[in-house]
Amino acid sequence: MNNFTFQKAGSVNEAVTASTTKRSRIIAGGTNLVDLMKYRVENPEEVIDITRLALDKIELLEDGGMRLGALATNADTAYHAEVAHNYPILAEAILSGASAQLRNKATDGGNLMQRTRCYYFYDTATPCNKREPGSGCSAINGFNRIHAILGTSESCIATHPSDMCVALAALDAQVNVTGEDGERTIDFLDFHRLPGDHPEKDNNLNPGDVITSIDLPNKGFKSHFEYLKVRDRESYAFALVSVAAALELEGDTIKDIRVALGGVAHKPWRIPAAEKECIGKPANEETFKNLAEKLLAGAKGFGDNDFKIPLAHKAIVRALTTAKLKTEK
Ligand code: SF4
Repeated sequence: MNNFTFQKAGSVNEAVTASTTKRSRIIAGGTNLVDLMKYRVENPEEVIDITRLALDKIELLEDGGMRLGALATNADTAYHAEVAHNYPILAEAILSGASAQLRNKATDGGNLMQRTRCYYFYDTATPCNKREPGSGCSAINGFNRIHAILGTSESCIATHPSDMCVALAALDAQVNVTGEDGERTIDFLDFHRLPGDHPEKDNNLNPGDVITSIDLPNKGFKSHFEYLKVRDRESYAFALVSVAAALELEGDTIKDIRVALGGVAHKPWRIPAAEKECIGKPANEETFKNLAEKLLAGAKGFGDNDFKIPLAHKAIVRALTTAKLKTEK
């Protein structure tokens, strides 16, 4: 690890001011940043600790939604009675991620800021455009079993590693941020980015932006939902493919539908226009298969990860079928 200065922020504004330089990093749970610093993938000159800030509350909003403080832990969020009851897809997604120890420490804001688990990103002996822009991508012609099949670019084929973010994408969450120009809200689908020519940028935050909370709309799809995670082993493994599926039904007819995919792109993958086309249609295998086709249109494998295309197709249909058969507890 390189030397760095360490500062405890006493307010959100202090954290904003302290983190505007390119070489500063905010730390909360530290479950990803500390690893990255040990591997010398991240070499900040200034580390700003925000754990003293009062951003750990989980509260009900007047419109029936909920606000998750950026410093609420993943464990406290998943086991919160109202989150578990009103947003079971989110609780399921969080509990499928990492390990119990990590979930006790990792924060909700930090979950959004996780960086890719691409092997080459962690290996400083290999070229990686995300770690060192312009150096090349070792994964495109290398071992790419865990890599993306959608939204890739010639610069990067990495995936976003979060489970929680896949459920947040399906729920149409919003991210509250304070930056140099004050407070603003970012729709969850616009928070993370596709790699394009700048894979070094994972999201649309500006230097100095601090995530303060995440808002969940009041529609939680608590009757018909499924978080299906396909992985190499049953626990403490990242998704090869994951599906957050949610349905609102009137009899057998689809009133609303959401499908977000994890493990397949640089950000949680969702196509709202394809979901809209399902509204008014019967909730059956044919509708689910058609939606899977649309979500995976243009999917491209890079050799080792070709299997993800049929796997994702089957996982989407299975998750929606399971969601349909579920009833509110
Ligand atoms: Fe780096 Fe992205 Fe290529 Fe992985 S896929 S080596 S993160 S540029």
